[in-house]
Amino acid sequence: MVSLRAVSKQFPSGTRALEDINADIETGEFVALLGPSGCGKSTLLRLLAGLEAPSTGQIAWDAGHKPGPGDIGYVFQDATLLPWATAAENVYLPLRLRGQSRAQAAALIGTTLARVGLAEFAGARPKALSGGMKMRVSIARALVSNPMLLLMDEPFAALDEFTRHRLQEDLHLLWRETGKTIIFVTHSIYEASFLASRILVMSPRPGRIAADIRASVPEGPN
Ligand code: ADP
Ligand code: ADP
Repeated sequence: MVSLRAVSKQFPSGTRALEDINADIETGEFVALLGPSGCGKSTLLRLLAGLEAPSTGQIAWDAGHKPGPGDIGYVFQDATLLPWATAAENVYLPLRLRGQSRAQAAALIGTTLARVGLAEFAGARPKALSGGMKMRVSIARALVSNPMLLLMDEPFAALDEFTRHRLQEDLHLLWRETGKTIIFVTHSIYEASFLASRILVMSPRPGRIAADIRASVPEGPN
């Protein structure tokens, strides 16, 4: 789907976050970016999302895979929901930005919230939701435009162990059902090894790919 070729990132501050990253990500992979804090995992995710540009090197999308609006779903680490908007309104946002009316979007918002187990919470505002539920809303918002690629920045880090485990199971199921390409950031070897079909292990800053490990068939949680 996408090839990273000699990608490096140096910030104007002088910090070298990434150095000579080379990897090919295939359609349908569930990739964990694993590495210590500060090694450039989030930066790599933002480069893939097009939120930032590499300093040197190329990110080359395969023919027919060049992402357009709505083709990449991005889940931020802290969920980042609009606090004054309901779950349904938060999920509606990407569709609204693409010019869909609320009436046109209503059915899709409903099925997407149901997919993440929040059918009954469409009208709830973030303040009334638990951490796990907010993360689910954030995932629904990323999925609603049926993106070809789902990028998630430490989606489980802020959750308690029980909630994390449930969300991990559900995400794994979603991956198996939809075959979507998912790339997520983690600093947990445990999380990477039981969730992902492939682990890119990064070295401390400036992040390089220290190992590229493919699981045979991931079994999922449990
Ligand atoms: P990770 O996600 O692995 O913890 P990050 O990608 O967030 O790492 O950050 C990698 C390094 O780049 C860190 O040292 C961080 O402080 C630095 N960094 C990240 N974003 C910026 C920025 N916009 N400007 C300057 N330095 C940054
Ligand atoms: P998860 O979000 O992974 O389902 P949580 O621990 O956040 O895990 O929530 C577990 C379940 O408890 C939810 O699916 C929901 O049914 C219920 N729940 C959690 N928080 C609330 C809340 N603020 N109001 C009503 N029900 C809640």
